[in-house]
Amino acid sequence: MIRENLRSVEERIRAACARAGRDRSEVRLICVTKTKPVEMLEEAYAAGERLFGENRVQEIVRKKPLLPADIDWHMIGHLQKNKVRQVIDKAVMIHSVDSLALAETISKEAVRAGLVMPVLIEVNAAGEESKFGVAPEETEDLVRAMAALPGIRVSGLMTIAPYTEDPETNRPYFRHLRNLSVDIKSKSIDNVNMSVLSMGMTGDFEVAIEEGATHIRVGTGIFGERIYQ
Ligand SMILES: *Cc1c(COP(=O)(O)O)cnc(C)c1O
Repeated sequence: MIRENLRSVEERIRAACARAGRDRSEVRLICVTKTKPVEMLEEAYAAGERLFGENRVQEIVRKKPLLPADIDWHMIGHLQKNKVRQVIDKAVMIHSVDSLALAETISKEAVRAGLVMPVLIEVNAAGEESKFGVAPEETEDLVRAMAALPGIRVSGLMTIAPYTEDPETNRPYFRHLRNLSVDIKSKSIDNVNMSVLSMGMTGDFEVAIEEGATHIRVGTGIFGERIYQ
C-alpha cells in the first residue's frame, strides 16, 4: 500500500511541478511518520524515501536507532525547550521555531553539541487561534534576533495551513509565506539564507508547490489515517 501511495504522491508532485514550470528536484518530500510503526517506515525506506518527519521528540528518539542511519529526520512539531537537548543531534532540521526563547535554547544546545542546526520559523499565516507560530508581521524581527545566535542557521519559513476540503482556500496563505520569505531574503541579513519554504500537507501540497514550496510534509497520503490513542 505504501509503495502505491508513494507512487501516486510522486505523480501529483510531478504534475504540480509541471504546472508551475518548476523542476522536480526543487521540491523535497518529507514523509510524515508520526504515530506510525517502524515497519511502515521501513516500507517507505525500501521504496527509496530518506526524509522522515516527526512531531514529537520521543518518537524520533525511539525510532531513529531502529532504522538505517542514512535517513534525515526532520523535527516538524511544536518543540518544548526542555526537549531540545534530546533532539539536537538527531534531527537535521527543526521546522517549528516560534519564539526567541526556543531559538536561544537550540543555539545553546547546538553549540554544546558542536554543530550548526538549520532552523525554520513557523509562521501562523492564517492567524488561527489554535495554531502555534509567529504572526507574519513579527517574522522579520524574529529572524533578525535569531541571526545573531551561534549554532543555528536561519534557513527559511514553515507554515501549517488550515484544514480544508478545498486546497485553493490555502493558496493565499502559501503565497503570503513565499512573499514574506522573498522580502526577508532581499534584506541580506548575515547568517540567514531563506532557501527553505516548508509548506503543504496531504490535502494541499499541490497548491503549495505551485506557490513555491521547497519541502512538503505528507503523512496521511502515504501512510493512511492516523489513529491516536
Ligand atoms: C501531521 C503533520 C503533517 C502531515 O499531515 P497530513 O495531512 O497527514 O499529510 C505535516 N506537517 C505537520 C507539522 C504535521 O504535524
